[in-house]
Amino acid sequence: MSEVLNVEELFGSKVFTLGKMKERLPRSVYKEVKCVMDKGGELPLATADVVAKAMKDWAVENGATHYTHWFQPLTGITAEKHDAFVTHPDDEGHMLMEFSGKELIKGEPDASSFPSGGLRATFEARGYTAWDMTSPAFLKEDATGVILCIPTAFCSYKGEALDKKTPLLRSMEAISAQALRIVRLFGNKEATKVVASVGPEQEYFLVDREKYLQRTDLIFAGRTLFGAAAPKGQELEDHYFGTIRERIGAYMKDLNIELWKLGVTAKTQHNEVAPAQHELAPIYETANIAVDHNQLVMETMKKVAGRHGLACLLHEKPFAGVNGSGKHNNWSLGTDNGVNMLDPGDTPNENIQFLLVLACILKAVDTHAELLRQSASDVGNDHRLGANEAPPAIISVFLGEQLEDVVKQLVETGEAARCLDGGKLQTGVSTLPDLDKDATDRNRTSPFAFTGNKFEFRMVGSSDSIASPNTALNAIVAEAFCEAADELEKAEDFDIAVHDLIKKYMTEHQRIIFNGDGYSEEWVEEAERRGLPNIKSMIEAAGTLTTDKTVKLFEKFGIFTKVELESREEIIYETYAKTINIEALTMVAMAGRQYIPAVIKYSKSLADSVIALKEAGADASVQVELLNAVSAKLAAAKDALTRLEKAVAEAGTVDNAKEQAFFYKDTVRVVMDELRAPIDELEMIVDKEMWPVPSYADLTFEV
Ligand code: ADP
Ligand code: MG
Repeated sequence: MSEVLNVEELFGSKVFTLGKMKERLPRSVYKEVKCVMDKGGELPLATADVVAKAMKDWAVENGATHYTHWFQPLTGITAEKHDAFVTHPDDEGHMLMEFSGKELIKGEPDASSFPSGGLRATFEARGYTAWDMTSPAFLKEDATGVILCIPTAFCSYKGEALDKKTPLLRSMEAISAQALRIVRLFGNKEATKVVASVGPEQEYFLVDREKYLQRTDLIFAGRTLFGAAAPKGQELEDHYFGTIRERIGAYMKDLNIELWKLGVTAKTQHNEVAPAQHELAPIYETANIAVDHNQLVMETMKKVAGRHGLACLLHEKPFAGVNGSGKHNNWSLGTDNGVNMLDPGDTPNENIQFLLVLACILKAVDTHAELLRQSASDVGNDHRLGANEAPPAIISVFLGEQLEDVVKQLVETGEAARCLDGGKLQTGVSTLPDLDKDATDRNRTSPFAFTGNKFEFRMVGSSDSIASPNTALNAIVAEAFCEAADELEKAEDFDIAVHDLIKKYMTEHQRIIFNGDGYSEEWVEEAERRGLPNIKSMIEAAGTLTTDKTVKLFEKFGIFTKVELESREEIIYETYAKTINIEALTMVAMAGRQYIPAVIKYSKSLADSVIALKEAGADASVQVELLNAVSAKLAAAKDALTRLEKAVAEAGTVDNAKEQAFFYKDTVRVVMDELRAPIDELEMIVDKEMWPVPSYADLTFEV
């Protein structure tokens, strides 16, 4: 019998939950804290001192020696600097572990070495971290010991957001305020806020760590830069939902335990489409906490992999020729008195509030399609969106048959009298139950799909923070709600006004609805006819951040200033250029020091064999043929290598960040492909014993 896991006890054991606060804080202090959490405002320093002491005591009881302000700079990952609870010893040399309210509330990390996109010159190094009370503190345990992590926002001396959390929190306040106006119009007086909820499904690959360490491309770029396809890929569709192998199962079990301790509701696990690819989905929660937890999920995935002799690859496209990884971002809006604004009920045609919400979302997504696409872009995702793989880079909305029919009726007649019903699914087997059908089938090819009571934004990259997509979603929908509320609040006859507005929005923005196959070439053409944007790359999308339309949107709700947006655009160009530069240099090193020398050895052995065979009077034609083929491809590889070195050197001379990024995309990446091609062909000819790195088959089938 295996050991019984007490999940209920494990869950949240490393989190300073509200429950623990309640136990440990005086009632009045707890009330004050809860009030600030719910309604905003500031905690007086004296109160913060009490909270800090309770938090520290709990942490120390659980083995903590240090604390850190845990934040999310614009690198897309998290940052931490540890400080011990150690204080100055007294005269007798005794030391007391201490932690003050001031230390809890505010930190001052040197901000100069984080990306700021010009927001902060290096000589203005001051940056501040501010405690985010809405996300609970937790303990991280590793070789460093136990560290108390306090989720924080990170700002410059002048108050500009230097992180991903600050704008997200601002966007959550914006959507809450505007969504409240909408529910008030429909008579909901009880709700005091509206919360954006997010459930991100995380895809990942696992490979053997020993093999991983033999591939500098995986180490430096997180993806393979070379590699011939394995004889078998995903074509048999036998990996998706397949039986989980023992080694992977042990990893998943350990991962779940670690996540549960951290209060992450790891819920679903399964094998994904590509060989060696898997998925984990937690239960949805408040956007802010979901973003923090997703960072912890990614970090824990990597950490636990090490313990199992595995390496976890979060890159969007670790292997060419098979599926890459994404992150389905499920999003909905709920009032604090329990109404999911995206729940249509059984008869959506009669649910006017839902229809208005839907109309606003269609308008928001159509108006800001470029921004939404931008929010899901990162360097790795360029290999998925609009490239070899789905989802397409074109934003469209999938509504499903039932809602599409309702929209069609509304657009055509202004009324939606009927509503398609799911009906019963007849299994045709007397011993099986007949099932109630959903009113709508699934669509796996849409980037933005309605799935019953939420939208699923499927474009997000697997390694990326989900902060930006959710900030964008909250902002664009807040804007549409605001515009609708502006009109409806002053309407003389609300019923007529709301009816007209729904019809108007749906008519004007119906071009964004697409229920067909989003992967097809016909859709690309059709989308172009409809005038929908099709932005192919991260750096082509970056400019969207600073268009008048985007600046107006974000400034209106105080989510980003123009300067903050400009800084983010700049960082995108810099990040892109640096990432491709690393990839190119890694290719140069691998080709020059591993592949080409290996091929030369192999040609030498062929040449030796030709000579020996000829001396022996035997037929050497096969060897000669092979030698010629290998030599030709070797020459092509050497030529491309030289050109790649030149291209990288030239890229370094381009001054302007944007121009440099485009040079990497349009010139360097092209030569990278030209170097890869002959090497991958050589991999199929050269003696496997002589090939210097593990193959795709070794990496993905022998985990
Ligand atoms: P599927 O994608 O097959 O529908 P699930 O129903 O398990 O899968 O949902 C996937 C993710 O969506 C999970 O993280 C789940 O918690 C989340 N989710 C479910 N309902 C909502 C909601 N109302 N708002 C946001 N996320 C949700
Ligand atoms: Mg899903």
